[in-house]
Amino acid sequence: MAISLTDIKARVSAAGERHGRGPSDVSLIAVSKVQPNERVAAVLDEGHRVFGENRVQEAEGKWPTFRRTYSNVELHLIGPLQTNKVRAAMELFDVIQVVDRAKLAKAIARVADETGKCPELFVQVNTGDEDQKAGVSLDDVDALVAECRSLDLPVRGLMCLPPVGEAASLHFALLKKVADRNDLAGLSMGMSGDFEEAIAQGATHVRVGSAIFGARDYG
Ligand SMILES: *Cc1c(COP(=O)(O)O)cnc(C)c1O
Repeated sequence: MAISLTDIKARVSAAGERHGRGPSDVSLIAVSKVQPNERVAAVLDEGHRVFGENRVQEAEGKWPTFRRTYSNVELHLIGPLQTNKVRAAMELFDVIQVVDRAKLAKAIARVADETGKCPELFVQVNTGDEDQKAGVSLDDVDALVAECRSLDLPVRGLMCLPPVGEAASLHFALLKKVADRNDLAGLSMGMSGDFEEAIAQGATHVRVGSAIFGARDYG
C-alpha cells in the first residue's frame, strides 16, 4: 500500500523543481487519519517522518506508540481543535495548523506560558467562506495573525482547504497573497488531487493522504 510514497515524493520534488524550489523547500505531510496501523508503519519503515492527523483522540491512540519505535516523527494537527483538547494537542503535535479564532489562540498561549513550550502554529483560513468549514474568514485573518503575535505565539504560516468543486488554484493564490501581506513564510495547501497545483502557487507544505496510503475506509 505504501508503495506510492516513492512516487508522490518524486512528484513533489519535480513540481518543486519546475517552480524554482529546492529539494527540501516543500514538506510532504503524509495524512494518516483513519488508515490502518500497518499502512502507517509501512510508510514509517520507508523512512518517512512527517505525518498529519485530524483528530486529537485518534492521534493519541497511535502516535505515542509509533514514537517509541520511530524517532524524529513530526506530527501536524490538520483537523478542528476544541479548546478543551488544547493541552493534549500541544503535548502530542509538533505543528498545529488549525488556529482559527482568538479564543483558541489564547488557550494555546495559556498552556505555552505554563509549560514554556509551544508547537509551531499555522492559521487556518476559510478562503471559500463556507459555513460548515473551520477557518478564520478572509476579513478577520490579519487581525488574528496580529493577535497571535501579540500573544508571542510562533505563527509560521497559513493553511486552507478549498471548497470542493471550485478551482483550487484560485484559493491557493489567495492564501499566498494573504501570507505575503502578513509576512508569513509557511503555506500549507494542496492534497492528493491538487498538490502539484499548490506547489506551483507557492505551497511549503502539502497534505497528502489517499494518494500515499490508498483510500480511507470509514466503515
Ligand atoms: C484528509 C485531509 C487531507 C488529505 O486528503 P487526501 O485527499 O486523502 O489527500 C488533507 N488535508 C486535510 C485538512 C484533511 O482533512
